[in-house]
Amino acid sequence: MAPSAIPTQDVDLTAANIQVKEATQPTKPSSNGTTPAPLDASKLIYNLTKDPRPVPGEEVANASDQTICTDHMLTATWSASEGWGAPEIKPYGPLSLMPTASVLHYATECFEGLKAYRGYDGKLRVFRPDCNCARMHMSAGRISLPLFEPAELEKLIIALLGVDGPRWLPKNEPGRYLYIRPTLIGTQSQLGVQAPREALLYIIVTYMPRLDSPPGGMRLHTSPEDMVRAWVGGFGYAKVGANYGPSLAATSEARTRGYHQILWLYGKDGECTEAGASNFFVVWKRRDGKTELITAPLDDKLILDGVTRRSILELARERLSDELEVTERKYTIDEVIEADAEGRLVESFAAGTAYFVCPVSAIHHRGKDINIPMGPEGTPNVITSKIKTWVGDIMYGNVDHPWGVVIPERE
Ligand SMILES: *Cc1c(COP(=O)(O)O)cnc(C)c1O
Repeated sequence: MAPSAIPTQDVDLTAANIQVKEATQPTKPSSNGTTPAPLDASKLIYNLTKDPRPVPGEEVANASDQTICTDHMLTATWSASEGWGAPEIKPYGPLSLMPTASVLHYATECFEGLKAYRGYDGKLRVFRPDCNCARMHMSAGRISLPLFEPAELEKLIIALLGVDGPRWLPKNEPGRYLYIRPTLIGTQSQLGVQAPREALLYIIVTYMPRLDSPPGGMRLHTSPEDMVRAWVGGFGYAKVGANYGPSLAATSEARTRGYHQILWLYGKDGECTEAGASNFFVVWKRRDGKTELITAPLDDKLILDGVTRRSILELARERLSDELEVTERKYTIDEVIEADAEGRLVESFAAGTAYFVCPVSAIHHRGKDINIPMGPEGTPNVITSKIKTWVGDIMYGNVDHPWGVVIPERE
């Protein structure tokens, strides 16, 4: 068949083409002739609480079965005909949804996770929020939720932190942080399987238990032979809720066996992808004697493009090029086992907003433990420590860096 005979709609129906189309969606005038409104942070309405709650101590918050949120949340509604409504900061409280809401049936949900850090200079910062907002835009497109200008979302996150930051993260408690969860859900009350025509964006600010490195390092268990977290052509690269629920069973099982997280392998060769909901790194000596920092690549869209991952790769390429090579490529659990057998494993860590930079001390695979060198008394090893310090210094304002964005606070 001549190429010209290929029906064009088949060519258009690739994931790549659909995403491009979504991302460049024109704001088309609706039937009544009006153009749907874009998300606009300048329209933000402040409806602040009259009775702020007492701020619990960190131990109280962490002991609770429920996540404690700050006094306020930010919401913005969207409909296909009107576009985005004015965003509003209002008292934190329950949402009201119809039982038929799209998100409750078809997982039309995506989210972000970032932290606000109280710096040692007293300032409040977020770390590369532009990256989170761009990623949320990408995730929203993947799950047929409405698009928005990422910079507007960033302004909304900063505005909410400006309100709740001062009281919930006092200036005299440097080194503490709050966790911010921007969320977008399909709210249309229509059971037809279709892209929702109504949606809700909300941002909440929470106390998250300190997920510090477990004493002695994180212990990983490889994924069950007959289970994958993500697959080529799937959506592992998007922060959509549908990626997480199905991973919980394997993680619970690993916990009962004394491990902290699953090291998700992929394909018949057992490619190392991610550790729990963190990116995974190994430092080893190659057979040619060169030290290498290696992590899985982004190009087959199996793994999440972590902001922490990206920052580590950038800093390592900039500051460690004398001592090691930084590589993003597929590598397998067998390569890790071989490196261990030949004494070439140097260190390993998991990286993400939740656990930050967390040393990995063991990987259990098919009945055997691979032990990975740690620093003295269970501390992170040399390279992991350097990286952790560099990124932490930016987050907590020990150094001035464009990645640390200062929040203007309302006193
Ligand atoms: C959120 C997440 C990460 C880490 O991303 P950061 O931007 O560094 O927090 C890694 N993997 C998965 C699956 C995630 O959901």
